[in-house]
Amino acid sequence: MIQSLGIRTRLNSLGAVESSDVILASGPSILSRRQLPQPALCLSRYEMDQFLLHELKQAGANIQTGQRIAPETSEGVVLATGRQPSVTEHGWRWFGLKAHARNVRLEAGLEMHLSKQGYIGLCRIEDDQVNVCGLFRSRSPVPNLSTSWKQWLSGQPESLLLHRLKSAVWDDSSFSSIAALSLTPKKASSHSGLRIGDALTMIPPVTGNGMSMAIESADLSIQPLVDWSRGKLGWNSTTQKVATLLDQTFAPRLRHARWLQHAMFDPLAQSLVWNLSRLIPSFPSLLFRMTR
Ligand SMILES: Cc1cc2nc3c(=O)[nH]c(=O)nc-3n(C[C@H](O)[C@H](O)[C@H](O)COP(=O)(O)OP(=O)(O)OC[C@H]3O[C@@H](n4cnc5c(N)ncnc54)[C@H](O)[C@@H]3O)c2cc1C
Repeated sequence: MIQSLGIRTRLNSLGAVESSDVILASGPSILSRRQLPQPALCLSRYEMDQFLLHELKQAGANIQTGQRIAPETSEGVVLATGRQPSVTEHGWRWFGLKAHARNVRLEAGLEMHLSKQGYIGLCRIEDDQVNVCGLFRSRSPVPNLSTSWKQWLSGQPESLLLHRLKSAVWDDSSFSSIAALSLTPKKASSHSGLRIGDALTMIPPVTGNGMSMAIESADLSIQPLVDWSRGKLGWNSTTQKVATLLDQTFAPRLRHARWLQHAMFDPLAQSLVWNLSRLIPSFPSLLFRMTR
């Protein structure tokens, strides 16, 4: 997708780092070490968002920042307003924490560390920084996240994650958090109006496919929207056409991602996945492809 949009060279010049291998760790142990079927491109959201803003302005877009619109569905409106908040899901409160750090040495381009409360991904990004990003769940509200985030992101005692981050120099200004996440897949055809990205549905972060789905859903919407703007399609037909395209494209990966996400938190399912990975070396690649 990045290649077909013709933005790869520009992302490279911003310092995007190509990661071609991944480590999966739990506590002090490495469970799996693999080559990715295709390299992942790692760049901070700050750089990515600034880049997109610049590109859109160059293309003549009128962009107004620092304002919130009422996220209503009406003719001509495409909602790309991110996740639909859900305080709890099956009694769990899901939240994400993220910050950049320096002085962190990784053994692979991407590292995923499992803990009892969630999973934390590490990846190299521009300027020798490492993006540390975790998804967590809790039965009760978690107070003081703004002061305790380093403990959450640094892993438990004796863990490999704690070892990795023991000399980390955190960029406090890069810390961000998000709560009220809903990981239940949603169908475009069950929404009114036209939604793309997380505003449509959120794929579990373990897949590392959320940004791609946001861009893919925008891409899939373009032709019907162009037809609508030229008067070739009515708005209802446009939204239906886009919904069908999005549901056909995303349903399989959302289905597979759902049980993979479940496996991240269920010890039995976890051991099944690890054992299958040991017995069938191509299983992790298959999982990767199934969530694309
Ligand atoms: C913990 C965690 C880890 C993740 N890790 C990865 C990963 O490794 N790889 C990956 O690809 N994806 C990952 N994701 C998913 C990825 O972040 C999302 O899928 C992606 O950001 C979706 O893009 P989006 O543009 O749809 O929504 P967003 O990025 O949320 O953007 C929505 C924008 O709309 C704005 N907005 C919202 N409401 C309004 C309003 N009313 N008016 C005006 N503006 C509004 C918001 O401020 C925001 O700027 C992760 C997510 C989480 C929670």
